[in-house]
Amino acid sequence: MKGFCYRCGYEGELIEGLCKECYAQVYPLFQVPEEIKVEVCHMCGSYKRRVWQDPKGEDLYSILQEIAYYATKDNLKKAHKNIEIEIIPQEPKQLPGGKRTKLEIPVKIIGKGKLPGEDRERTMEKDIKVRLQMVQCPRCSRYMSNYYEATLQIRAMNRPLTEEEKEELDRFVRKEVEKRLKKDRMAFISKFIPKKEGLDYQIGSMGGARNIASSIKSKYGGRIKETAKLVGVDKSSGKNLYRITVVVRIPEYKVGDIVEYRNKVYRVASIKEDKLYLEDITDKGEKIPVPWSTAEKETRLLKRGEECSTATVISVSPETVIAMDDENYEVYEYNNVFEDIQEGDVLRIYKKDNVSYVVGVEKKKSIDNR
Ligand SMILES: [Zn+2]
Ligand SMILES: [Zn+2]
Repeated sequence: MKGFCYRCGYEGELIEGLCKECYAQVYPLFQVPEEIKVEVCHMCGSYKRRVWQDPKGEDLYSILQEIAYYATKDNLKKAHKNIEIEIIPQEPKQLPGGKRTKLEIPVKIIGKGKLPGEDRERTMEKDIKVRLQMVQCPRCSRYMSNYYEATLQIRAMNRPLTEEEKEELDRFVRKEVEKRLKKDRMAFISKFIPKKEGLDYQIGSMGGARNIASSIKSKYGGRIKETAKLVGVDKSSGKNLYRITVVVRIPEYKVGDIVEYRNKVYRVASIKEDKLYLEDITDKGEKIPVPWSTAEKETRLLKRGEECSTATVISVSPETVIAMDDENYEVYEYNNVFEDIQEGDVLRIYKKDNVSYVVGVEKKKSIDNR
């Protein structure tokens, strides 16, 4: 249809009484503000969409591009769902008088498609600005004020943690925290308090503390106990505020330790999340599972595996193995029930009623390598 555009007076081809330019302005393919403000944490680089979130990008440039992209996407309305939108963040600009607090990212938006009733596809372009507002996110402000919801305590049953265990567990906790932070931004370590008997961590979120405790338990075995303490009342909601303490106790024993259980002597064969597996030292075949709750009450440590005395193998035949005690040179003879035993291998032995039992074998090669 030809005629005069009712908006600008142009004479020519009209769509619904409008020239092409006026039509595109009256019926845009998308709508977006000229300027979008987005809150960005100056400490951790997280930014606020509906909730605060950590950037996926690694370097500053890609983080800024990401922020500009999502800020635009979240504020853009398409006139129809079939319209394709391309969001292209440009080079970030420092505004005059500004440090990082005045940062602006121009964004080019290209929309392609047609509205219902239109017979030809068209393109619409728009340039906008995303302006960053540097603030401190709720997580960082809590972190800065040493906020914590939970204390995670790591201990061993009936003994202090050894220095090696402390080092290993601390490494494990920090790795777990790093993983957890991807899902729970509040799962940070607010404070680390090494203790003589174990390790204490103040954790930003209850869920984080519980999660780390259960990871420790599934790797090292043991028990978890949780207690809560009322610390106040939230002024805005009137709800009670609690802080929890999660204690995870790793097993007293290690594989190889010698324990007494119901008047028999056992070697700790393996340690699982909920159970301890004991092996009768006199009868190699018998292995029994004992739940931690029972083990705590009914077992008793006789000797640490590494404290058991040693004897060196001096002769091996298909039937017998002869070894000499490294301390008193006493000679012992055992049935050869071992796989692949050689002269020079070292046996860990435990003596009960003057009879020595083999509770472990250390290969000669591994000893030479030390
Ligand atoms: Zn017009
Ligand atoms: Zn932050």
